[in-house]
Amino acid sequence: MITGILNNKVYVGDLIQQKRKRISFKNHKFVKIKEDELIITKNNHMKIISKEHFEKVQDIIKRSVKVNSNNEYDIFSGYVKCTECDSNLTIRKSKEYTYYACSSHVRKRGCNNKHTVRKDILEEKVITEINNRRAKKIDKLNRKYIFDLINMIYLNQDGSIKIEYKKK
Ligand SMILES: [Zn+2]
Repeated sequence: MITGILNNKVYVGDLIQQKRKRISFKNHKFVKIKEDELIITKNNHMKIISKEHFEKVQDIIKRSVKVNSNNEYDIFSGYVKCTECDSNLTIRKSKEYTYYACSSHVRKRGCNNKHTVRKDILEEKVITEINNRRAKKIDKLNRKYIFDLINMIYLNQDGSIKIEYKKK
């Protein structure tokens, strides 16, 4: 229910008109209008929550942590992408390691990026990078550090990673 409220832009003060439209006069059916066709009047009425807060919550909903089929907590869920094709990396498991691979490559949908990155190595790399940027050092990664600091982590063809940080 809260998700429903937060998905509704009226609550941040943008009035949305034309949410549905009739196909024709004779037809009583309505079609749902795509987001970019909506008429949005900015800051039309009193705000209930701030726009900034709204967008932050949207981001949290979008990137909620998933547990994979091995019942393993995927700390990087929604935060790792393939540099080659922009697909999300998918968490996988071999006999010895948990690792990430390009989902497009895994599904044989044309991406050439054969490189994978082990989850523990990715964690180490991200911790090292975060510690290089912050005075306060961390030795263990958690979802909040990732959420606060990182916009996206990209896996390159050569197996290296590139972190795109959030703008401050
Ligand atoms: Zn790819």
